[in-house]
Amino acid sequence: MNLEKKDKKYLWHPFTQMKDWISSDIVIVERARGNYLYDTGGWKYLDGISSLWCNVHGHQVKEIDRAIKAQLSKVAHSTMLGLSNVPAIELAEELIRIAPKGLSRVFYSDSGSTAVEIALKMVFQYWRQAKRSTRYAKRKTKFLTFVNAYHGDTIGSVSLGGMELFHKTYQPLLFKTIKAPAPYCYRCPCGINVQPCQMECLAEVERLIKRHHKELAGVVIEPLVQGAAGMITQPKGFIRRLRQLCTKYDILMIADEVATGFGRTGRMFACEHENVTPDIMTVAKGITGGYLPLAATLATEKIFNGFMGEFSAKGGSASGGKDNKTFFHGHTYTGNPLACSAALANLRIFRREKTLQKLQPKIRMLKEGLQKLYEFNNVGDIRQRGFMAGIELVKNRKTKAPFGCEKRIGHKVIMEARKRGVMLRPLGDVIVLMPPLSITIKELKLLLQAVCQSIRVVMNHLSS
Ligand code: PMP
Repeated sequence: MNLEKKDKKYLWHPFTQMKDWISSDIVIVERARGNYLYDTGGWKYLDGISSLWCNVHGHQVKEIDRAIKAQLSKVAHSTMLGLSNVPAIELAEELIRIAPKGLSRVFYSDSGSTAVEIALKMVFQYWRQAKRSTRYAKRKTKFLTFVNAYHGDTIGSVSLGGMELFHKTYQPLLFKTIKAPAPYCYRCPCGINVQPCQMECLAEVERLIKRHHKELAGVVIEPLVQGAAGMITQPKGFIRRLRQLCTKYDILMIADEVATGFGRTGRMFACEHENVTPDIMTVAKGITGGYLPLAATLATEKIFNGFMGEFSAKGGSASGGKDNKTFFHGHTYTGNPLACSAALANLRIFRREKTLQKLQPKIRMLKEGLQKLYEFNNVGDIRQRGFMAGIELVKNRKTKAPFGCEKRIGHKVIMEARKRGVMLRPLGDVIVLMPPLSITIKELKLLLQAVCQSIRVVMNHLSS
C-alpha cells in the first residue's frame, strides 16, 4: 500500500472533513529546507503559513538542529515534577529577559491550549487563595472573553473562545463566560463606520467590567490580532486601555500571545506595541522556532506569591493540605529538554541575526504588495499586523456580503496557490499570509504574486 492509501486508511486529520480529505489528492511532506516544504512527489512549496504559524527562521536551521542533537546526546526527557533540567532553567531566564517587564515566572507545558488552560486555572486559584482586603476575592470566579476569540481546543480554552463554527457544538460542556464585543472594524459590532473610531466596543467592554468586576477573575485577550477568527486586527490603543481597565477594577489580564509571540507582529511580543504588561502571558508556537511542541505560561511575582504557602502534612502531599497553595497542574512532557534547547537556539538566532530589525522592510513590502490586491472587487478587507495578514474575500464589496461557506472560495484560492508552488491554509474566506520571518524579499514577491494570480483565477472563474 502506498503512503497516500495508508494515510487515508489510518489517519484522522485535525480540523479536516475526512470525507473530503479521502476523496482529494493530498500532499505528503517529506522534508523541508529554508522556507520551502518538499513533498514525496518531489514538488516544492513556499511555506506561506509557517507550518501553521510556528516556523520562525525556516526549516533545517543549522543552529537549532545542532542544539537539539547536542541535547539528545545528554538527555531527551526528564520530568519537571520534583526535578529540574538544564535547558528548562536557561530558557526560563531567557524568556523572562525578553518578556514584558514585570513577568517573572515561567510555567511550561506543550501546546498553546495547555498554556491557556494553565493561565485560567492559575487565575482562578489565585483568587481562591487570595488573602486580600478585597471583600470580593472569593467571588472572583468568572472570565471576560471576546466574541470571535480563539484560545485552543481543550475544554477550558474552548470555554474562553467565541467562534461559533468551532465552539458551538461543545456548548453544553463549557463553563460560562462574560462575552464582550471585540473590535472588527470592517464589520463593526457597534455599527460605526467612521475612521479613526472612538472604540465604542471598548466602552461596552468597560460597561461589562464595571457591572461584573466583583465576580471577574480575569480578562483573556489575543493582543492586537484575533488570529483564528480571520486575522482581525484591533485599533491602536485597545489593549493599553484594556490593561488600564483591568488594573482599575482589580481583574487579572491574560494576554494570549500563542499566535502573536516571537516576532509575528514585528516586535517580540504584541503587548510591547502598547507597553502593556499583562498579569499572565501565554506563549507557544514560535517559541521553538517551529521545531518542537513547547509552551509557557508566564506570570508576575504577585501571582506567583499567591501560591506560596506552608506545606501542610495534614492533607498529605497529594491533597495539598489546608495551607498548601500548590498549583496542581503539570504535564508529562513539561519543560522537555529537547524542546527547551531548540527554543534557546531560536532565541539566540533572534539576537545574533537581528531578526526583528531585518523583518521591518519585509513588513513594509508585504503591506505594499497587499494593498495592490484591492484592485479585485471581491477583496473586501486587508488586515495586517507585522507578518500576520488576512485578505477577506467577499461576494459584494459594497454590501460586504460574504460568499457563503458552501462556495469554499478561500479553499479554491489556496488550491490555486498550491499549483503555483505556495502552501497556504485559509480561515473561511480569509486568505492568511503568515510566512516565516526568514522569508527573503524574492520569496515574499513570489508569495504575493501567487496570491494575486490565485485570487484572479478564482474570481474570473466565478464571473464566467
Ligand atoms: N491561542 C491562540 C491565540 C492560538 O492562535 C492558538 C492556535 N492557533 C492556540 C491558543 C492554541 O494553540 P495550540 O494549537 O498549540 O494548542
